[in-house]
Amino acid sequence: MNPINNTNLHIEKASTSKIDAVDFDNLNFGKTFTDHMFMCDFENGAWQQPKIVPYQPMSIEPSARVFHYGQAVFEGMKAYKDDDDRVFLFRPDENQKRINTSAARLAIPEFPENYFFEGLTELLKLDSAWIQKGKGNSLYIRPFVIAIEPAIAASPSEAYRFMIICSPAKAYYTGTVKVLIAEQFSRSANGGVGYAKAAGNYAAQFYPTSLAMKKGLQQIIWTDADTHEYLEEAGTMNIFFRIGDKLVTAPNNDRILDGVTRKSILQLAEDMGITTEVRRISVAEIKTASEKGELKEIFGTGTAAVISPVSSFEHGEKTFTLPELDKNSYSSRLKERMLNIQHNTGDDPHSWRYEVK
Ligand SMILES: *Cc1c(COP(=O)(O)O)cnc(C)c1O
Repeated sequence: MNPINNTNLHIEKASTSKIDAVDFDNLNFGKTFTDHMFMCDFENGAWQQPKIVPYQPMSIEPSARVFHYGQAVFEGMKAYKDDDDRVFLFRPDENQKRINTSAARLAIPEFPENYFFEGLTELLKLDSAWIQKGKGNSLYIRPFVIAIEPAIAASPSEAYRFMIICSPAKAYYTGTVKVLIAEQFSRSANGGVGYAKAAGNYAAQFYPTSLAMKKGLQQIIWTDADTHEYLEEAGTMNIFFRIGDKLVTAPNNDRILDGVTRKSILQLAEDMGITTEVRRISVAEIKTASEKGELKEIFGTGTAAVISPVSSFEHGEKTFTLPELDKNSYSSRLKERMLNIQHNTGDDPHSWRYEVK
């Protein structure tokens, strides 16, 4: 990460904090926001002065292009606090690069790295009281960019707003999930925007996921759009399979989001001496492995939940149940290792922690 340059960040502090009204033991994920937000507008071909202001509603014209053509990308990251009140981010340079990769695909101008880091760091310093200590607690950080030019011609906007808002979070998903393997719907296609964190990718998932929920399942495992034979992602997470003692995940391509958690889990598994394989994995392979008793675990990985284990999957009206997990499961060992790095309670051999100070 580059040192912060002087970006002329303007800070307007909130006159009072809302924090006393927050029940941190009963947080509804993503519904409570901290006292401040970061914003920076793109106009006349350049990013303008960045600002931190009190969190508040904003006014945007109904004709803003984001409402009509979905020109919007986002990121998801977290800040953690250790027992000495030190604040850490996890591989934030990955998120900074990725939002620009996503932006480029949606014809959105890239946001300068120094603005990103200065905005984020100052915002976290102002709102650090909102980061709760203790494993599983964090402050969820949502950087995003929207097209705000008031114009409804179907072409890229000439004005954008980059923002960062923050929401205190406990563990996102709890327990295991039952999943449906997609046989009809797809989340992304070759040459499409699946690799970008584009807002529209999520909109496209809600309806198929709601059908799965009606069947009593919680998530969809997305398969390749051509054949629906290969396993690609789990809901909004990357996906891993433990077959025997090997850990397998699909290779990145233009349909799959290049998850920071995914690449970190692959590295940590290797550090632990677990054999990993990055290759295509078919529905037929996991069905056979399940029938032979070789399919030990399936789990999703992502910033929100770190690791979300699957208890069963359904395909072709048939349900396949996974064994119960114990403390030695790969998912519990890898999650524990990740949490220890993130919360500064374990060693960090790859220098993934970044202290905010
Ligand atoms: C954000 C996201 C992930 C997980 O990425 P992380 O960097 O690990 O949080 C996986 N799949 C999709 C579709 C995503 O949007």
